[in-house]
Amino acid sequence: MNHVTAETFDQNAKAALQDSQLKGALNNLTNTFGERRKIAIQSVNNWEGLREKASKIKAETLKNLDKYLEKFTENAEKAGAKIHWAIDGKEANEIILGLIKERNAKNVVKSKSMVSEETHLNAALEKAGIFPVETDLGEWIIQLAEETPSHIVVPAIHKTKKQIADLFVEKVGILPTDDVDKLTQTARNFLREKFQTSEVGISGVNFGIAETGTILILENEGNIRLTTGLPKTHIALMGIEKLLPQLSDLDIFLKLLPRSGTGQRLTTYQSLITGTKRDSEAEGPEELHIVLLDNGRSKMLSHPVTRQSLACIRCGACLNSCPVYQQIGGHAYGSVYPGPIGAVITPQLNGIEKNKQLPFASSLCGACREVCPVKIDIPELLLHLRAKVAEEKPKFLESFAFKLYSKAWAGNKSYELGTKTARFMQKLVAKGEKIGKQTSLMGKLAPPLGNWTEFRDAPTIAEKSFRDIWKEKKVKSKG
Ligand code: SF4
Repeated sequence: MNHVTAETFDQNAKAALQDSQLKGALNNLTNTFGERRKIAIQSVNNWEGLREKASKIKAETLKNLDKYLEKFTENAEKAGAKIHWAIDGKEANEIILGLIKERNAKNVVKSKSMVSEETHLNAALEKAGIFPVETDLGEWIIQLAEETPSHIVVPAIHKTKKQIADLFVEKVGILPTDDVDKLTQTARNFLREKFQTSEVGISGVNFGIAETGTILILENEGNIRLTTGLPKTHIALMGIEKLLPQLSDLDIFLKLLPRSGTGQRLTTYQSLITGTKRDSEAEGPEELHIVLLDNGRSKMLSHPVTRQSLACIRCGACLNSCPVYQQIGGHAYGSVYPGPIGAVITPQLNGIEKNKQLPFASSLCGACREVCPVKIDIPELLLHLRAKVAEEKPKFLESFAFKLYSKAWAGNKSYELGTKTARFMQKLVAKGEKIGKQTSLMGKLAPPLGNWTEFRDAPTIAEKSFRDIWKEKKVKSKG
């Protein structure tokens, strides 16, 4: 499933559906996180009220993002950080590479960062001879396997214990083992040495606080503490949408994010970093560089519907709840961001033309909207993007068929004629009271509808319509 693209989503999805090992792993993950989330949100008073507040804070911040970015920049620089602006991924990578080269750094450690996946930072650095080491366990496994993450929060979810053990034998040279403790100890020993010898640490950012210029990074493994604290130079790559106005807003977002994502009340570590190491402090970076990335975000800001995509706090709850993601996993989306949120942000970040299948990778059931801690209306966004796809490449037959359908359903007579005709025609494709896979005629007679019934049955139109029954009853009661 690796190295597939969003352009072949349909084929990727079909291949993923055949993968029983993947299905088992997804089932396990999505059920576990879904159940844990349900329990975790009960520990908060007025969960819905919190979601509402978070949604309002994000909406207000995004509406005034220029003001908050200015404030964040001013306060971060006052605290000793240096701010860099990157219009796109290429520029962000160049800035980071430049900083590494200026410091003549040979060793670089990196903590999990979806935004660096978005800019393909590792590939850009490797091209220049710098080989950053991922320090999040899941991300390190993915790096060893030369794959991409398949989940926003749990990057190696698609891998079994055996596959990981084999990978460690092949790439790290350990003796074969299936002992989880030995495997994690292997990772710990390998990574510890990298932390000690690296001159630069690269991280992502969960939230930036405009009021204080602080960045906050959440984690469970302690690797972010080491990545941002041990090397002399810390480079943080941050999307411009990550801002919150004030420190006290974290009270809301720290209750929402871990509970929604992994069902934790709080992540094990929360690193709040304001500027560089003070003289009185024993540890911390001597230099802090924050690279603020646009990469299409300003364009998303300009429309009230697409703007809400920028409220995402990357908790992953929409992936866990999505019936499509639950069946096919993350790689099938062929993009850095999978699942419902990936289906809406990838076409906006990378262009609708190459990602036009993604807005259709949803049943529009609304499960994602139900669980989203910041109340992003993903179905609305999907419909908005579907309309854009249709505008860019109108399908004349489809549009003609829908116009006909709309006309027929708008008038009494045409509606009745339409249902009568359909009732008669369905005899060709129905079996019993179902239209479905039992008869291949559906696919042959009406190919687009045949695609739909390949995996599910449609009910037949009732022998008598409600109107007919009503008329009959009326006649009887008069008689
Ligand atoms: S869209 Fe909502 S649920 Fe999905 S990752 Fe973003 S914040 Fe979480």
